[in-house]
Amino acid sequence: MGVSILALIYIIAAVTFIMGLKMMSNPATARKGNMVAGVGMVTAILGTIFLYRNPDGSLLQNHIWIFGAIAVGTLIGIFAAKKVKMTAMPEMVSLFNGLGGASATLISVIEFNHLADLGFPADASSVGTMAIIFAGVILGNITFSGSLIAWGKLSGKVKDFAFKGQHIINMILFGAAIALSIFITADLQASATVILFYIVFLLALIYGIFFVLPIGGADMPVVISLLNSLSGLSAACGGFLYDNKVVFTGGILVGAAGTILTVLMCKAMNRSLVNVLIGSFGGGGKLAATGEQGQHKEISLNDAAVVMSYANKVLIVPGYGLAVAQAQHTCHELEKLLEIKGVQVKYAIHPVAGRMPGHMNVLLAEADVSYDKLLEMEEANDEFTTTDVVLILGANDVVNPAAKTDPGSPIYGMPILDVELAKNVVVNKRSMKPGYAGIENGLFYRPKTSMLFGDAKKVLQDLCGEIKNL
Ligand code: NDP
Repeated sequence: MGVSILALIYIIAAVTFIMGLKMMSNPATARKGNMVAGVGMVTAILGTIFLYRNPDGSLLQNHIWIFGAIAVGTLIGIFAAKKVKMTAMPEMVSLFNGLGGASATLISVIEFNHLADLGFPADASSVGTMAIIFAGVILGNITFSGSLIAWGKLSGKVKDFAFKGQHIINMILFGAAIALSIFITADLQASATVILFYIVFLLALIYGIFFVLPIGGADMPVVISLLNSLSGLSAACGGFLYDNKVVFTGGILVGAAGTILTVLMCKAMNRSLVNVLIGSFGGGGKLAATGEQGQHKEISLNDAAVVMSYANKVLIVPGYGLAVAQAQHTCHELEKLLEIKGVQVKYAIHPVAGRMPGHMNVLLAEADVSYDKLLEMEEANDEFTTTDVVLILGANDVVNPAAKTDPGSPIYGMPILDVELAKNVVVNKRSMKPGYAGIENGLFYRPKTSMLFGDAKKVLQDLCGEIKNL
């Protein structure tokens, strides 16, 4: 009876995951979607703890350990989520990804040791089972170490690092991990089996580090979504090993969603996935010059307010700086003030703006900006020609023309927002410093561009004040 109730709980949980995912695709229902999937997850966990039966028919006994671990994890999770600043969310997501990978690795390690203790019985150590164990260790460890490096890079603690021939070493590390896994599976009784297993473990850890370390500046979004997908796939391996349908379904959903995101990010960056897998693109977070640094011109708050108030159409380009300044609410206020004056206002969203996929959508949704005002890159590029003023708020790399004109630039080939097609470009940032990719931006020196220096929140507050007084 308990077993069939548990099966039913798993089906319900799997349905809530799918419903939650669907709801998360729209900002209006995203919060609810998260909650629905979360309730499904809690139900599945409690169902497993109280209804799962061991092969001998007994129920789980180690409740104190399980609830002790859940309590510690929950407390750390709540504390971390409450304490983390909105701008540090991408780092936290990276860490959580890494921990997902580490958990999947631990499941594989426990199962491997369990089979080793039993002397690898033929029925329980089939090629299929061993393949899943190794896939869990390799994918889990790559996710774990790669995500830690990604966390370090996003928080500015780890710098890009590459050396000559790194791609070859990466391929050797990955190839050796796979070859050793096949070798061990073919001769499970060999005395060195356990040692070789831990060598595979180490190779995957080192590959994860080497794979993410050289990936430079602007190319990080692809890696982050790929690691996200790997964390799901490694979790699915755990579900497969324990024949637990709900872990398997959850893992596959994260893996599939992450893969779709990776493909979209590759498209957004105009990079190929093969290049990502051998960690060979980007690099060079150094300050690359465009040779365009002439004189930039500034615009006063009053002039910026006038030029926007008398425009027919204003497109706002949000970037990482808007998130840093937490100026999304003030930005929404500016939008409403301009609309009262009869100006049409929309937002141009670059897919890699900010520091995590969908960062700008989340930020603007938080300020209740209507979703139909957000234009995707292609749509926005079509609208710039009929735009009077583009207001760039803390964005830099995503509007850098070097991506189109300078083959030596690390962001060369990345599609950008063609803001220069508009009549006027007003750029708000605090200084002439570069963005995440560490490169100069020639746009700031072009004739149509005027700089409006200052913290985005302060500048937007002042702009709102000026517009009200006009
Ligand atoms: P950038 O990092 O290129 O530029 C942000 C700009 O904001 C900086 O030049 C900075 O200039 C300015 N800024 C910072 N703080 C403030 C503030 N308080 N007020 C006003 N301006 C501020 O951001 P973009 O969004 O244009 O591009 C994102 C970059 O991050 C891309 O290179 C992308 O590849 C990368 N990335 C994206 C990820 C994703 O998933 N979306 C993940 C990892 C990396 P100043 O200091 O002069 O103010």
